[in-house]
Amino acid sequence: MDIRIGNGYDVHALADGLPLWLGGIRIESRKGCIAHSDGDVAIHALCDALLGALALGDIGKHFPDTSDEFRGIDSKVLLSRTMGLVSSAGYRVGNVDITIALQRPKLAPYIPLMRETLAGLMNVPAGSVSVKATTTERLGFVGREEGCEVYASALLLSLPDEE
Ligand code: MG
Repeated sequence: MDIRIGNGYDVHALADGLPLWLGGIRIESRKGCIAHSDGDVAIHALCDALLGALALGDIGKHFPDTSDEFRGIDSKVLLSRTMGLVSSAGYRVGNVDITIALQRPKLAPYIPLMRETLAGLMNVPAGSVSVKATTTERLGFVGREEGCEVYASALLLSLPDEE
């Protein structure tokens, strides 16, 4: 079996009055991400980790933010399409680990549903999807509530050879 590892990183600026989407679900928040898509920075970092594991470039290459096709797009669609590339390359997801840095709101109540949602889109059990959240102790742009930052790692396993 062949295994491949990838990491992803993404940041979006936050602004008052925008919807906040993270890990495929809507979060109750005063601020949301400024973005061309729905701004789901967690899914964007995850897609970059999956693409990175296959050395297929990044999310901007596959889903350009200059394209009208992707304006306001649900990032779950981007993850599904990324998974199409993973399958086409002959791989499946082993596990992923995501760390979301956001000063507020507290994300703990949302994490079980994020894990289930992402697991469904990647066709793995929720036990293979880790989502963690942290503040940055009020330091930096995350701490000033100016942005949300996400790190993701992904392990891919090769599919059995077709006879
Ligand atoms: Mg992004």
